[in-house]
Amino acid sequence: MSSLPLIDPDNALFLDFDGTLADLAPRPELVQVEAGLVGTLRTLHRQLGGAVAIVSGRTIAELDAFLAPLQLPTAGVHGAELRDAEGRRLEVPAPDLDRLHRRLEDFAQAHPGLRLERKPMALAVHYRAAPELETLVREQVAQALGDVSGLEMLHGKMVVEVKPAGVTKGSAVELIMRSPPFAGRMPIFAGDDVTDEDGFAMVAHLGGVGVLVGQRPSAATVSVPAPADLRAWLHRSAKALDGGAAGQTGEASKRSTAHAVDTGTDAAHVAAATAGPPGDGANPSASTTSS
Ligand SMILES: [Mg+2]
Repeated sequence: MSSLPLIDPDNALFLDFDGTLADLAPRPELVQVEAGLVGTLRTLHRQLGGAVAIVSGRTIAELDAFLAPLQLPTAGVHGAELRDAEGRRLEVPAPDLDRLHRRLEDFAQAHPGLRLERKPMALAVHYRAAPELETLVREQVAQALGDVSGLEMLHGKMVVEVKPAGVTKGSAVELIMRSPPFAGRMPIFAGDDVTDEDGFAMVAHLGGVGVLVGQRPSAATVSVPAPADLRAWLHRSAKALDGGAAGQTGEASKRSTAHAVDTGTDAAHVAAATAGPPGDGANPSASTTSS
């Protein structure tokens, strides 16, 4: 894999959330957003003409809560929910998940380590607290799904999900790239999970770059070891695009003359969707997901 150049003003940026922007936590609700990240994302959004999107397995509502007050173009639930650059919501028809939910409820309750999560457009069975149940979870979800059409299984980190068929992070990227301000830009997609491979493949298809957070065989062409390294790259890029907070001159600063330098007004913003105990947010070995 090659090294990671700084983000160019002509790029379009697609960012996974869990395990990419934020460190993984023992439970998805305990994930914390690093101070300064929201300010950096705001700077990148401004300097890239609005072409910065979040692409996650979480719902848009959850992602907005983590990144408040910022509301970026977002693909939630692996692309089953979509908010474009104009703030318009485009949603695929909601699948009928009630019967499947009933089928899996008893199974999930019979195993204390499992958590059944109902999303607007998907169902997820989390087994992080009982990783030994992975095979059983896969079998049970496959069995419950049966031959229901229009839905498909997705295997993520410590989770098996059921979501609308054909909707992936790759299809979300493709759709977002069709419209301004994304259209015509060179896309970069950063993610950590196997569910991000669809995004890596799509940006490769579009002549862009995949950035893997972690180490494994991947369609991504560049990698960084951990979310902290990904964030450092975003911070460095934002600073360079903003012409340097230290008052550099030249081309970079000319690009941003219409904008005030972002001073990181979100420095005190350490967001969590719910109040989790501090320090619970950074245990990479205890991976969980909504990827
Ligand atoms: Mg992820």
